[in-house]
Amino acid sequence: MLTSRFAPSPTGRLHRGHAFSALTAWRAAREAGGRFLLRIEDIDPTRCRPEFEAAILEDLAWLGLDWDGPVRRQSEHLTEYAAVIEALDGRGMLYRCFRTRKDILDGIGDAPHGPMEAARPGPHPAEEEGALLAEGRPFAWRLSLDRAREALGDRWEALAFVEEGRGLITARPETAGDVVLARKDAGTAYHVAVTHDDALQGVSHVIRGEDLFEATHVQVLIQALMGWPTPVYRHHRLLVGDDGRRYAKRDRSVTLEQLRAGGLTPEQLRAELGF
Ligand code: GLU
Repeated sequence: MLTSRFAPSPTGRLHRGHAFSALTAWRAAREAGGRFLLRIEDIDPTRCRPEFEAAILEDLAWLGLDWDGPVRRQSEHLTEYAAVIEALDGRGMLYRCFRTRKDILDGIGDAPHGPMEAARPGPHPAEEEGALLAEGRPFAWRLSLDRAREALGDRWEALAFVEEGRGLITARPETAGDVVLARKDAGTAYHVAVTHDDALQGVSHVIRGEDLFEATHVQVLIQALMGWPTPVYRHHRLLVGDDGRRYAKRDRSVTLEQLRAGGLTPEQLRAELGF
């Protein structure tokens, strides 16, 4: 059965872009007689706020969306994500990273691998790691691409996913570097929580914005390492505002709350978005 989901993070009010994304995933499920799930991705303790979660539910209901089963709230499942980290660590896939963002950016310097996301700082030397651990310094867990590649052998080259409308796409997880799978502050990170939940909830179609296209490459690797199925993906276009920039939570003028306050009806918004 086709199962799709909308998985917002409660870090702000929803805007038109979210409405488009939610409607796209919802319609795919409803047209196929499938299931549509709502998941609140609230593992970031500094940015997520309960009042934004309440606002998300209100905005979606106003839009006329309905979802199947209870809402899954990721902050209530941290032990499940910790078990994934433990399993990967037990297989030697992870290494501790005590570095700060600044250390890593300094370390990258002029190296060709570019942005922060592509960082591959590598494990600390054993002695240094021992000392940092003894000091009780906080650390993140990073996925070692080298160890993952070793573990998968021939399957590394075959990593791929189906993008609806485009066909089979080879996954290139290496472009993201040794991604953080457990943040210092949260004990888990987006890629772990999202892949765990997509697998657990039987999500067959991940329909989300094209800003997450690169993330999919990493997620396909995690699925292979964990033995989870890879869903079909559809990365939809991002809506842009009048100024040609894509909507973001910082653009307060286009939140659904404000559109509603300004008298826009859900029918009008849906029509405007093509639904
Ligand atoms: N929680 C993520 C976000 O708000 C989306 C996750 C996903 O769709 O995979 O951007």
